Amino acid sequence: MKAALFYGMHDIRVQEVPDPVAGPGEVLVRVRAAGICGSDLHFYRNNLQRTDIELPHLRGHELAGEVAALGEGVIGLQVGERVAVEPRHLVGCGRCRWCLRGDYQLCVSRGLSAGRRVHSTGFAEVSLELAHSIYPLPDGLSASEAALLDVYACAVHAVHLAPPRPMDTVVIQGAGPIGLACVEMYKLGGADKVVVCDVLAGALEAAGRVGADAVIDSAAADVSEAVMDMTGGVGADIVVEAVGGLAPTFSADVRMAARGGKVLVVGMFSRPQSLDAFEAQQKELCILFSNSYGRWDGVPEFGVALAQLAAGRLRPGVYITHTFSLDDIGRAFETADNKRTSAAIKVMVEP
Ligand SMILES: [Zn+2]
Ligand SMILES: [Zn+2]
Repeated sequence: MKAALFYGMHDIRVQEVPDPVAGPGEVLVRVRAAGICGSDLHFYRNNLQRTDIELPHLRGHELAGEVAALGEGVIGLQVGERVAVEPRHLVGCGRCRWCLRGDYQLCVSRGLSAGRRVHSTGFAEVSLELAHSIYPLPDGLSASEAALLDVYACAVHAVHLAPPRPMDTVVIQGAGPIGLACVEMYKLGGADKVVVCDVLAGALEAAGRVGADAVIDSAAADVSEAVMDMTGGVGADIVVEAVGGLAPTFSADVRMAARGGKVLVVGMFSRPQSLDAFEAQQKELCILFSNSYGRWDGVPEFGVALAQLAAGRLRPGVYITHTFSLDDIGRAFETADNKRTSAAIKVMVEP
């Protein structure tokens, strides 16, 4: 099959690699769309400086397509059926205490198979997946819309960890795909008001289009002061941190939170953050961290996201700003990496 091989940072080469074969309990998925995730960009920028990743390797976990082949013992799926995929690096061992209670995002062996790291290969023609991670798609959803489910599932998990009350003001820092998905899920979850902060005009405009009640240009204003003004000095009941990376946004999260409020970190920080513990204690803040998704009272959060998407309650069209072929994946990453000039939100690769 044709696949993008990642040799480290910006070095991505499209090459022929051996076709994977579906073993027992596995499904081969013909990839029709795969989104570039913030975590792909962390690798591209070498933000995390990880040394445990083999090079070159295949990537791409936000994918959808159709069933190309079924391994032994797989029932309930048909070759040719259109499907979404809960990506392989997020699958737990199924046996540990966290997996057994549905929190497989906390599994120590998550994404490992016989001690080796396994990963979906959405940036290739086919991806080898586990049958229990496959979700058949209803007719109305396109592959690129379904490829957003990984993002939406993260937002479902955020709402699970810090659910809004009907009178709550929720402030979301960062209007990238995760921030936008949180806007939609917090509105669906019943928040009174959802306010979004970002430095990019295009991102703020997208936040409005997915249902934000108000936006704050963080480049032009002190965000915590703006949130205090907007809430009559009370602050945000829930602050969702969806910037992460190298951004210095965590201290503002704590400043803009209301007394007795919550700060939920969904964005992936790539360096340590400092906390004003005195202020957090005075406010009795609850600071929570959200790591991808698992099950919510036994229900897969990926499936919750799919149900909302299939019901037409979400606006996936706002996210997908660019689409590239697999041969053009280098340009796809450049576009996703340079949001300031490209105004990209979610960049899709269609192998
Ligand atoms: Zn992702
Ligand atoms: Zn486990």
